[in-house]
Amino acid sequence: MPEVIVVGAGPVGLLMAGELRRHGVDVELLEQRTEPSPGTRAIGVHPPVLTALEGSGITEGLLEHAVRVGHGQARSRGRLLGTVRFDRLSARFPFVATLRSRHRGGPGALSAGAGARGSGHRAGLRR
Ligand SMILES: Cc1cc2nc3c(=O)[nH]c(=O)nc-3n(C[C@H](O)[C@H](O)[C@H](O)COP(=O)(O)OP(=O)(O)OC[C@H]3O[C@@H](n4cnc5c(N)ncnc54)[C@H](O)[C@@H]3O)c2cc1C
Repeated sequence: MPEVIVVGAGPVGLLMAGELRRHGVDVELLEQRTEPSPGTRAIGVHPPVLTALEGSGITEGLLEHAVRVGHGQARSRGRLLGTVRFDRLSARFPFVATLRSRHRGGPGALSAGAGARGSGHRAGLRR
């Protein structure tokens, strides 16, 4: 019987299961989907997440492949509507990290950290 059951293998469940496992907790991760969703739900990884993933080493691997976005612009018909600056969010990570491919770095690394597809992870629960 696991000590903790985490329901849902989205970014939060994967991070939680991975961190609990990293601290020696016997955790089971349940996910209703049997296949990864084809779409993406993260254009960029923000500083608080980069900080949260540092202890597991995922941030280092992720930043090897990431584009570091310091600011973004909103435009319409060529007209600049506004600029958002990410370089003021954190001294440690003054950018948002965006990955060219969903299979390198982020979700795959989170799944690996949570032991997905191995012991302690199974499709299930939805009730
Ligand atoms: C188009 C889009 C772009 C986004 N871009 C960004 C971005 O650039 N940066 C950013 O930080 N955030 C972004 N977000 C927000 C980010 O995707 C969400 O904050 C994040 O996915 C929330 O993670 P979660 O694990 O809490 O929930 P979810 O990602 O919704 O995961 C929940 C998981 O639980 C499973 N589940 C639910 N109920 C059950 C059950 N009863 N039994 C078993 N399994 C269950 C679901 O199948 C799912 O896999 C974006 C969102 C969208 C839609």
